[in-house]
Amino acid sequence: MPAYGRHPSAQLIEVQNRSFLVDCGESVQMQLMRYHVNFHRINHIFISHLHGDHFLGLMGLIFTMHMQRRVNDLHLYSHRGLDEIITTQLRYTRSWPNFKLVFHRLEKDQREIIFDDDALTVETIPLTHKIRCSGFLFKEKTKPRRIDKVKLPEGLLIQQLASLKKGDDVRDESGRILYKNEDLTLPPRKIRQYAYCSDTAYNERILDQIHRVNLLYHEATFMTDDEAKARETQHSTGKHAATIALKAQAERLIIGHFSARYKELGPLLEEAQKIFTKTLLAIEGETFSIDDQ
Ligand SMILES: [Zn+2]
Ligand SMILES: [Zn+2]
Repeated sequence: MPAYGRHPSAQLIEVQNRSFLVDCGESVQMQLMRYHVNFHRINHIFISHLHGDHFLGLMGLIFTMHMQRRVNDLHLYSHRGLDEIITTQLRYTRSWPNFKLVFHRLEKDQREIIFDDDALTVETIPLTHKIRCSGFLFKEKTKPRRIDKVKLPEGLLIQQLASLKKGDDVRDESGRILYKNEDLTLPPRKIRQYAYCSDTAYNERILDQIHRVNLLYHEATFMTDDEAKARETQHSTGKHAATIALKAQAERLIIGHFSARYKELGPLLEEAQKIFTKTLLAIEGETFSIDDQ
């Protein structure tokens, strides 16, 4: 619930000039504007599940995109029902957007790759919650070696540069090797992985899929004192989230989706940090970067 300046779930993920939205809680468009995000660059929105705190901001965002004359298709990924929810509202308001909405239905309890391009894949992470729910794993693809400008000799032909970029050696017209590829290039940039896991009860079945991710977001709705409540509502505690991060050997953990019963988040953070030191709080407007060096 919105409380103490905190908002329902929504995250902007930026990977190599691509912008994705994960979950779309109420007020998402206001938040995007507040943080100066050009939301016309968002072409794919991933909705984990159809509890209101994860999708109620979608209609407002779609409507504003329409008013601002968006033209690009907008892809929406969700468990069954979202197409009906959105099209019903559009039908009765008689404001069909001037851009195309493309609905993609997620499989229940099954991992699947739902997005795949030159730079990355996005796959679903089956979670344990009161209704069908999936997390999302953003995984970059292997990157090419980078040309080392310091070592680059002058006078290389365009074709020779192209073959260097492709990973081949530089050859002369007769096919003789002039320079070996590794002598003129640097190792490829590191591949980065980000996993989003919300909402979910404690579930070790996700461990192998999120093994050694650079950054893990895991919900921590409650503290261990309220574990009974967590069990009843199929949510996690700070201790649960940290244990998952530890067992998955994640590099860093972000916890979020805090219950409105906690005004101060310090104790929740401490609970998690006792198990997994590199834990951070998901605070509105905060940016978390994964270095690719
Ligand atoms: Zn939920
Ligand atoms: Zn929720």
